[in-house]
Amino acid sequence: MANGYLYMEDDGTVIHITQEAPITHQFEIEIYEGIVCPGFVNTHCHLELSHMKGMMPEGSGLPAFVDQIPKQRQKSTLDLAQSMKQSDQEMCEAGIVAVGDISNTETTIQIKSESSIRYHSFVELFGLNKNEALHLLAEGKKTLKKFKTADLAASLVPHAPYSVSPDLLKGIYAYCEGSLLSIHHQETPSENELFLQGQGDLAETFLKKDLDLSAHLNFGKNATEFSLIPYLSRHQKILLVHNTYSSASDIDRVINHFTDAYWCTCPKANWYIERRLPDYNLWRKKGLKITLGTDSLASNDSLNILEELKLIQNKFPNIPTAELLSWACKNGADYFGFHTLGTFKTGNKPGVVLIEKVDGLQLTPESKVRVLAH
Ligand SMILES: [Zn+2]
Repeated sequence: MANGYLYMEDDGTVIHITQEAPITHQFEIEIYEGIVCPGFVNTHCHLELSHMKGMMPEGSGLPAFVDQIPKQRQKSTLDLAQSMKQSDQEMCEAGIVAVGDISNTETTIQIKSESSIRYHSFVELFGLNKNEALHLLAEGKKTLKKFKTADLAASLVPHAPYSVSPDLLKGIYAYCEGSLLSIHHQETPSENELFLQGQGDLAETFLKKDLDLSAHLNFGKNATEFSLIPYLSRHQKILLVHNTYSSASDIDRVINHFTDAYWCTCPKANWYIERRLPDYNLWRKKGLKITLGTDSLASNDSLNILEELKLIQNKFPNIPTAELLSWACKNGADYFGFHTLGTFKTGNKPGVVLIEKVDGLQLTPESKVRVLAH
């Protein structure tokens, strides 16, 4: 609403939102110019890659990127714990109040326990060798338990359709009933190529590693039909991350099966790696529940949801800012079931963000966040 008043308790709890100015002197009034919205929800991040800023070449395409990450990860000279702490701080200052964080290890537990950000950790597994499935699963369960023992929300998830053997998938999904599932999905054209024809850059990447693909993957189906639909119930809540190359028929396959799918986009990371953004107008036409993610500093120069929104609005000026903000706040909170976040509903304590330097309701390249309440 234009020229609105947001009434709040001193602790940040929302009383109500209205266009009426207060009629008593009971309220202290602060006046700001810009757009006021709830704190942002970042549904896809990898704190564990925080020490890799600027290390990965841009525009290399995903197969080369995933091939290089494990090697480059070891080469960074930055202190990992310190880099992760800085990332957590950066997100706080960027008005982010909740984060879905991919965790391959337990290294982030302490930072998350001490943070004012509300985290859900996705304990992520990968491995195409079916002989290793049982071992990997056991390790994943141990890590999951450590998060839960530290009183942190967490669930076990697969990395991507192309990086997890069917045995490991089955093992992970046996643990996901009622918990939150997330998977990297259709981030590169070669993902569907791999599943439909058994060729392309991803297939090449794995062949180089002497992995016998045909023994591990069933060809002739797309990524969704291979890795999700055969295993999961219609009502499983699922976050599909990236979907940069999802066609109308790929999307239909998902929405015909799943009743509660969320579509996470990480525009700046997609641009960094593949030099391409998803077809948001198609997503909007299909009525998808869209959320925002920053991905990691291995494929981004910041962990800042407003910067993600600016890129989308720059490339898709037709999408209204209010709609982008509902992706960045409400939809992510709905996915996590964080019902007190994401909206200015009475009784909520969602954090308050002021977006300054806007042009009416449009974002500008200079727009920036000022956190009014966390
Ligand atoms: Zn990711």
